[in-house]
Amino acid sequence: MQSKDSNLCNGRGDIGCGGQIFPLKMDGRWFLFKDVVIFLDKDLEIPRCDRCKADWIDDDTQVALDVILNRDYEVHRELIEAARERYRERQ
Ligand SMILES: [Zn+2]
Repeated sequence: MQSKDSNLCNGRGDIGCGGQIFPLKMDGRWFLFKDVVIFLDKDLEIPRCDRCKADWIDDDTQVALDVILNRDYEVHRELIEAARERYRERQ
């Protein structure tokens, strides 16, 4: 979690490089969620360190992320479960 008191990349004590953290929108971000890769909308802002490029997901970002990941997973749930079932049958 990013410290609310600082926008430096060392809000977790020893972890971090001391760079500046800025909100960043970008294309091509993805998360592994329930063993499925989900690509995020490019308009979602996630704070990122300008030096070490680490994502700093604060509480508000985590809430938004959870909503998006669950929503997108549910959209494709039938296909995902069907694919898993076919895979299990092959083993
Ligand atoms: Zn950093």
